[in-house]
Amino acid sequence: MKNASTPPQPSEGDLQAQLQMLCKMHNEVPGTLTDYDCLICKNKGLLFVLSGMCEVARQCSCMPVRESIRRMKHSGLYGQMQTKTFLSYRVTQPWQKLLHDRARQFAEKHDMPGFFIGGQQGCGKTHLCTAICGSLLRQGLRVQYFVWETYVKEILSRSGVSDRDERESLMRPLMEADAVYLDDFLRKDCPTQAERSVAFDVVNRRCTEGRITIVSSEKEMDALLMTDQAIASRIREMCGADYCLGVAPDRKKNYRLPNPQLSESPADAGYCPPSPTDSARCTDG
Ligand SMILES: [Zn+2]
Repeated sequence: MKNASTPPQPSEGDLQAQLQMLCKMHNEVPGTLTDYDCLICKNKGLLFVLSGMCEVARQCSCMPVRESIRRMKHSGLYGQMQTKTFLSYRVTQPWQKLLHDRARQFAEKHDMPGFFIGGQQGCGKTHLCTAICGSLLRQGLRVQYFVWETYVKEILSRSGVSDRDERESLMRPLMEADAVYLDDFLRKDCPTQAERSVAFDVVNRRCTEGRITIVSSEKEMDALLMTDQAIASRIREMCGADYCLGVAPDRKKNYRLPNPQLSESPADAGYCPPSPTDSARCTDG
């Protein structure tokens, strides 16, 4: 005879629904992580999901982004991202508008893997590249920042030039990031063979894998081609005609000089359509 007081056992489906509800409840609880507002995990860094009949916690996709913010803070770029934005880039001249619009287009579409800007010191190259990084970070990409000379020196001092395995592991953060910004790239006129080798490794690999690479340099593309044709042509290939930009030497375009006398001449726009080097160049000519 059946005991009328025994409650009915919940079915597997009921249990699953209850666990599902529990996961949902736990996922709704807000966390305390800062720097990046994640709507998925509510800033806990964890997501609760059902695995069979168990609730398990998984790392949220925002964690690599948080890690790249941590690195950015360490490098000092994160602080600059708050001030060096597209909005704060001063546009009073056509050449500035060209640079601004291309940088913004790249940040929004990244329809090519590379963005290069070279030339005149103090014309806002770092400002625009930093603005791109800020935008990519907000889109959830892992962004890494490297001051080229410092980075290459560190790689070469910590790894034997011939020890490829060690170098490989040191270079992994740069190789695997969704986007990297190489600041002040190949500044020297005559980089050593070891420095060229690291530079080629980085550029070639990121180009082959189609990973976003932002490069700023005091050298325009033509000068970079003269320094090292193999490296420069890979960069140009990554950028295409739209995102290979140069600012011809001109003191008036140096933001850092006190009260630069900016030219009012429309010729200052100086955008040359893709030339034999396939790059956009701002000149006064
Ligand atoms: Zn998250």
